[in-house]
Order: sequence, then C-alpha cells, then structure tokens
Amino acid sequence: MSSSYDAIIIGTGQAAPSMAGRLTAAGRKVAVIERGKFGGTCINTGCIPTKTMVASAYAAHMAHRAADFGIQIAGEVIVNMKQVKARKDQISSQSRTGVESYLNSMGNCTVYRGHARFLSHREVQVNSETLAAESIFINVGGRASIPGIAGLEQIEYLTNSSMMEVDFLPRHLVILGGSYIGLEFGQMFRRFGSEVTIVEMGPRLIAREDEDVSAAIREILEREGVDVRLKTQCVRLAKDRDDIIVSLETDGQRSEIRGSHLLVAAGRRPNTDDLDLGKAGVATDARGYILVDDQLRTNIAGIWALGDCNGKGGFTHTSYNDFEIVAANLLKGDSRRVSDRILAYNLYIDPPLGRAGMTERDAWAHSKQTGKQVLVGNWPMTRVGRAKEKGETLGFMKIMVEAEGGRILGAAILGTGGDEVIHSVLDVMYAKSPYTVIQRAMHIHPTVSELIPTMLGELKPLGAPA
Ligand SMILES: Cc1cc2nc3c(=O)[nH]c(=O)nc-3n(C[C@H](O)[C@H](O)[C@H](O)COP(=O)(O)OP(=O)(O)OC[C@H]3O[C@@H](n4cnc5c(N)ncnc54)[C@H](O)[C@@H]3O)c2cc1C
Repeated sequence: MSSSYDAIIIGTGQAAPSMAGRLTAAGRKVAVIERGKFGGTCINTGCIPTKTMVASAYAAHMAHRAADFGIQIAGEVIVNMKQVKARKDQISSQSRTGVESYLNSMGNCTVYRGHARFLSHREVQVNSETLAAESIFINVGGRASIPGIAGLEQIEYLTNSSMMEVDFLPRHLVILGGSYIGLEFGQMFRRFGSEVTIVEMGPRLIAREDEDVSAAIREILEREGVDVRLKTQCVRLAKDRDDIIVSLETDGQRSEIRGSHLLVAAGRRPNTDDLDLGKAGVATDARGYILVDDQLRTNIAGIWALGDCNGKGGFTHTSYNDFEIVAANLLKGDSRRVSDRILAYNLYIDPPLGRAGMTERDAWAHSKQTGKQVLVGNWPMTRVGRAKEKGETLGFMKIMVEAEGGRILGAAILGTGGDEVIHSVLDVMYAKSPYTVIQRAMHIHPTVSELIPTMLGELKPLGAPA
C-alpha cells in the first residue's frame, strides 16, 4: 500500500510533536511514525523519569539529615523502591499519554506505529506501507552506547532504559562512566541505600567541565560514600553466582570489585544505523550522526534531521530548539540558526550544576585567540546566606566576562538552586548585555542570585588553566 503526504516525521522525540502541530496548522498533511514509546528518551527513559527519581532520592537524603534541622524522625527511614518506581512511572506515563493523544487527535495527522526505513529520498517504509512526501523530518534520537568489554555480553547489565524497570535496591551498583548519566544515577542510588562505585577511564569526572567543577563534584559524591575510581578502565566482566566481577586496571595495576548490578553509562549513539539512510543518500559522520547545516538541512534537499541524531545538542531543549529553528525557517520566513544558541545545560546531582556558555578553559582559549582580556569571578556557596539557611553550602559559582565591553562569556553555578539561577545569567547573555546590567540590578533577598552582583564586583584577570 502507498500513501502520499506533504511531510513525514520519523520518531516522536522532543522536536516531532510540535513540528507535526505546526505543519498541520499550516495546512500540511503529515504522517508521524513511532516504533517505540511516544515521547522518546526524555519522557520515557531520560530527563523526566530520572529527575522524578532524583526528587525521591533528595527526600530520602533530607529525611536522613532531618536532625540537622531540629527535626526528629521516630524510627528508621525506609526507602520503598516499588513506590519510588510507581511515582516515576505515573509522572512519565502522564507525559507519554499526553504526547500520544496530542498526535492522535491532531487533524490532518496520521500516526503510524512501526519502524521506519528509507526506500528513497522521498519514500519511507513502515510495516508493509510505503509513504511518500516532499519533506521528511528525522527525529530518531539515540540510545546507550555499549563498549566492547570482554565478558559484557555474557552478563546481565543495565542501561538508562532498563534502569527504569528497577523496583528494588541493588546491593552494590557498579557504574561504568563518570559523566552526566552515571553521576545522576550514582548519587540517586547511593541515597536510596545502595553501595555505589563509579568507574571512569579519564583523570576526572565529567571531563567537559573545568577541573575545579569536576573536583567539587567528586567531593560531593565521595562525602556521601560513592566510591569514585578515576583513570580506571574496566577490562573484563564475569558472573560469579549473585555477583558481577568487575576487573579493573588503574595505571597498569589490576584490581577487582564485586558488584550486584552493573549500569553501563558510557555515552550515547544515534539511532541512525537501522534507517537505511543510504537509500535516501543522507550523509552521516563516522559515528553515525546525520550531517546537517546551520538550519538543520541534511545533504539531501527536502530532508532535515532534528534532535540527538544530528549531534548538535544532546539535550531535550536543543531538540526542541531544533524544531523552533526548522519551523521558523520553513513556515515563518525567519532564518533562525543553530549557531544563534548559547550552550546551556544542567547536571542534576544535588546540589545541581547549571552551566551556560564557555568554561574557564574555553574563555582562556578565547582570550588567547582574540587578544581580549578575560576576567573571572568566583564565589563559594559557604558565603551565600540562602545556602546556609537551607543547610546546603556545598559548591561554588563562577563567571567569565570580557574586560572591555563586559560581554559575559560563560558561567557555572554548582550549588543549591544552580539549575534555575543559571538562567539569570543566560538571559543576559542572549540579550547581549554587559555583566554590569546584572551587577546594577537590585536582586531579591535572600537568594543565591543576590550574590551574583557581589561576585561580579570582585572580578580578577583570568589566569592560565592548571
Ligand atoms: C538518563 C538520561 C537523562 C537525561 N536527562 C536530561 C536532562 O535532564 N535534560 C536534558 O535536556 N536532556 C536530558 N537527556 C537527554 C534527552 O533525553 C535527549 O536529548 C532528548 O530526549 C532529545 O531526544 P530526541 O528528540 O533527539 O529524540 P528521542 O527523545 O530520543 O526520541 C526519538 C524517538 O524516535 C523513535 N525512533 C527511533 N528510530 C526510529 C525508527 N526507525 N522508526 C520510528 N521511530 C523511531 C524512538 O522510538 C524514540 O521514541 C537525558 C538522557 C538520558 C539518557
């Protein structure tokens, strides 16, 4: 069977539902194809479920700290993992059902359930049907990348997807990978009561951050009893009754740990290997990411790639922003571009890390490249009244600005409320206003944000990174 549409959208990630909404509102006849759960990673196995579980872990942590605040809990604090999972499932499924019913009830939109494959640059096959359209939007996302470690395929291991089914407390969770996903799950399960070991090949956690940020995060996790092994490679895995034997190598020294469960959090890969992209002539890079230009057009006219599969973002907000860019270009004559956006993201450990723009290392490189002097401000959370009141004084904030003109280059806020406070810096960056705008603004007391002007009052020339 063959059907014709104006547009085909493959995958229902963070860009697709809104893209379908905008196209149908403009009078286009649209087909949307989803092979798995509606809403993709963010809703089902990414942001929403993990942040829901982070909230449960925070509640457990605060219950254990209750005495610090003068509160006595009579009896033991019990983490009920079945209820933690049920709460997560309920919040996640509400969003999934919302996306599914939004698409199903959309006029001029036909939803297909099945795996999409290209037949040509204008045709896509789903189940036994051939769909044809002049415009095709690929929003297929990504999945956990599984490293080739000896013995891995002989044991049962977890990924961010199968972690969603965990409704028990792992005795000892070993996590391969010390980046965002590994750290969030690591602290969360430590707070639930598991023994947790994080194994990271590199010399520090979350290597894309500055060294002071990585070191502070390591300290936060170690204070809670997470065992962090840096410069450590997992070389072999084996099963021994209920244990997983994890063989490690650190600086040429062999060691072994026994865990009850293993989470592989060693990066992501795009879902582009099973799309038959070759039949459409769509080009990818060596890692499978679809090559796109600044307006998310692939090398084939009429085909766009949005979200994680284009390698330009890796976050829910970047995927949604991809939709905004493509919709503005196609339907509004507004030539928005990927290069207009400022890098921004959070790490949801507690306290969270909010990030915008350049790191200190990037700012140093920028200074060397342009000859412009860069200033840096630093402020510890121990000197933030709001943090003291909340009993949450771990972390620090820092900001990098150009000395001349005051352009803000980047900021990191690792501390209570950092995930929200970062936006006050981000918005001024988007406004292309100098840092003095924040410095002169009257901020509300008591907040973390009120110390940003104070930090900006104590800027110093940026030195070479260690
Ligand atoms: C554990 C974890 C935590 C995260 N936390 C955050 C966070 O806090 N904040 C944040 O911004 N980002 C976070 N992310 C990243 C975020 O989830 C993704 O960047 C986001 O979901 C964007 O995805 P997408 O739109 O590219 O597609 P996805 O959401 O991955 O969806 C792609 C969809 O396409 C479907 N599909 C794939 N191939 C086909 C095919 N051939 N035919 C039909 N359908 C197909 C899939 O089934 C899926 O539904 C997290 C990710 C993980 C794994």
